[in-house]
Amino acid sequence: MSAGDAIVIEDLRKAYGGVQALDGVSLAVPAGELFAYLGPNGAGKSTTIRILTGLTRFDSGRAALGGVDIARDPLAAKRQCGVVMQHVNLDGDLSLAENMDIHGRLFGMSAAERAARTEELLAVVDLADRAKRLVNTLSGGMKRRLMIARALMHRPSILFLDEPTVGLDADIRRRIWGLIKQIQKQGTTVFLTTHYIEEAEFLADRVAFLDSGKIRALDTPQALIARVGGWAFDRLGPEGMVTRYFADREAAQAAIAASEDAMTLRRANLEDAFLTLTGKAVR
Ligand code: ADP
Repeated sequence: MSAGDAIVIEDLRKAYGGVQALDGVSLAVPAGELFAYLGPNGAGKSTTIRILTGLTRFDSGRAALGGVDIARDPLAAKRQCGVVMQHVNLDGDLSLAENMDIHGRLFGMSAAERAARTEELLAVVDLADRAKRLVNTLSGGMKRRLMIARALMHRPSILFLDEPTVGLDADIRRRIWGLIKQIQKQGTTVFLTTHYIEEAEFLADRVAFLDSGKIRALDTPQALIARVGGWAFDRLGPEGMVTRYFADREAAQAAIAASEDAMTLRRANLEDAFLTLTGKAVR
């Protein structure tokens, strides 16, 4: 942990009744990083974002945004972040520009500043020509882009995205990936939750594997993949897909040559790392 950290979490715990949603999570995200929080449904991803953005209380531990402790000064912590939650929470009967404007008012921005920022951001997300249309007329992908623009209205230094591409078509997901990268390039720290492994592999500087409220591994996608070995081959048997990993291509080819089954060699990917390091791989 250092002074340049945008997000710091220490031993964060949260239970809902008998369910331990977060079971001692610690991590630090340096300013400017694109960090992916990857895990299956129920892992505790949304709970973490809800705590960090002030929507849910936590039982114990510590969390700070931009050096501001979220329990000690929740309002100051909240000003540092923009958040795009999973469900669409736009006002469908208002125009795109009106939705942006209301958010700016909530953060005390002047009318002139709100108008300028709305114009600027709708251009960034490629919705400028629809500024006066009603939100109800937008497609799912457009609504997601508008939510991202709205979250950036008050110039937050950290953007939280909870499953930003869930339920969207492949081409639209890729477009949103481009937008997220662009936002990071402009200096914003991005904390993204996803259960799409390829999304984390493609976008993130570093990835945490979360499972049952605990971080199982945290590193760059390349380092996580290297931990399981760079090469893999799969064999489909009655027990499912069984994958073996090898540090180098020669060792993998020797193993294939010694086997009677037909197998193809491939490069290991983040899914291999996830399955192995969370103990879910079939061996
Ligand atoms: P994820 O976002 O990774 O899918 P969540 O953070 O939503 O996971 O949930 C983590 C665990 O906490 C799950 O077991 C979920 O059922 C439980 N949980 C989340 N929110 C609530 C709630 N409001 N009341 C009761 N249990 C909850």
